[in-house]
Amino acid sequence: VPAALVTLPRVLRLVATAFVLLALTGGCRRHRVVHANRSIAVELRDRALTGSKAFEHVRDLATVVGPRLAGSEGDRRAVDWAVAKMRAIDLAAVRAESVTVPHWERGVERATLDGRPLAITALGGSVATPPGGVEAEVVVAESLEALDAVPDDAIRGRIVFFDKPMVRAVDGSGYEAAVDVRARGAIAAARKGAVASVIRSIGTGGGRAPHTGGLRYDDAVPKIPAAALAIPDAAFLREALAATPGLRLRLELGCRTLPDATSANVIGEIRGRARPDEIVLLGAHLDSWDLGRGAVDDGAGVAVVLEVGRMLRERGLTPRRTIRIVLFANEENGLRGARAYAAAHARELDAHVLGLELDLGSGPVHAIHALAGPDSIPALRAIAAPLAALGIAPVDERPIHGADLWPLRAAGVPVVDLDQDATRYFDVHLTADDTLAAIDPRELDQVTAATVAFVWNAAESRVTFGRIPADARR
Ligand SMILES: [Zn+2]
Repeated sequence: VPAALVTLPRVLRLVATAFVLLALTGGCRRHRVVHANRSIAVELRDRALTGSKAFEHVRDLATVVGPRLAGSEGDRRAVDWAVAKMRAIDLAAVRAESVTVPHWERGVERATLDGRPLAITALGGSVATPPGGVEAEVVVAESLEALDAVPDDAIRGRIVFFDKPMVRAVDGSGYEAAVDVRARGAIAAARKGAVASVIRSIGTGGGRAPHTGGLRYDDAVPKIPAAALAIPDAAFLREALAATPGLRLRLELGCRTLPDATSANVIGEIRGRARPDEIVLLGAHLDSWDLGRGAVDDGAGVAVVLEVGRMLRERGLTPRRTIRIVLFANEENGLRGARAYAAAHARELDAHVLGLELDLGSGPVHAIHALAGPDSIPALRAIAAPLAALGIAPVDERPIHGADLWPLRAAGVPVVDLDQDATRYFDVHLTADDTLAAIDPRELDQVTAATVAFVWNAAESRVTFGRIPADARR
């Protein structure tokens, strides 16, 4: 049989099949796109889950750069590191947008009770003690309200000790409940004439590494030195005072505030293929406190958002919208990076369709909270559908905690938290124990899997999520 007679019908069949397929996919383009995108999000999720490079990024940042408090030499090196990293993973429009930041330095820090040393650290922004330190009797207060009830005479010339334990919780809610004594304790104590304020560290766990963190002063009240005792040392102080009233605490802090310095928000993008003007912002903060290596806070967040960018670039995946990765300056002691970003991009904020920030360590994502326009939750739930397989609850409407997103939220930009399990986060938070050892690489892969799938779907979506209603923007 001549070969042509056999092959001709087969060619015709192939042509006919191709024609039918073209007609089908053309007629169902919308369906095809949705289906393809879901597959991409699922594929990205599963790739990340079986081993992302997020841990490599945080290992690099924590090892090569280390601590990077705003204005420090480490902060400058972190900006260079981030620019180089974004270029290495082939993001577009990589730049460092300059930010003026506060510059505070920790110096000597010592505390003794009756000659016995206590583990203590200055709160960020604290003034120094006079040379040689201060020594005074200690008055215990369990809260700001409890201090209010004590007569000024009982406080004047003394050191106030705020002993307010933080409760461990999966959502980290114990932190918000306890942190007021760190933020405002020095003001409250000074108003009553105290010479210094010390707190039980705002944290969990039994380690002897004290937890630092920012404080506020009020220009109308004397600025007094303020420090945090390690949790076991705070417990010891409480017991010692109960056993021997009138014990004197000696405190010496050598910290100082220098003139403002220059840092930067480091930004890179994956430009959208259809709506490059529409922005899905994916953020983390580049700065850290000075005591640890800045691995958990927020090296983990930095690593995850960079890994999302790297995974998409490696596969040549370009979503409809632009994904803008922002590593914010000075989240820890000023939020100047977030404010500078909102000011520099004020005219563009209407085009920000969604903002996310990763800043709760490396624990697995277990829930998703959002603040968005009315009736946007169903659309956000659809976008988050691939996350259900990671054990993550559906999106619900609730305030978010990523502080760098506050200026965007105030402008009405919809914001989302991929809420991480914070059960162990506050054991090392703002301490010298914030090192790589506190990160489980497999948990970080889960966070990366959730983030890359969610962000891909959000950037691929045609839904705009509206604006946060005015009364919900705080
Ligand atoms: Zn943080």
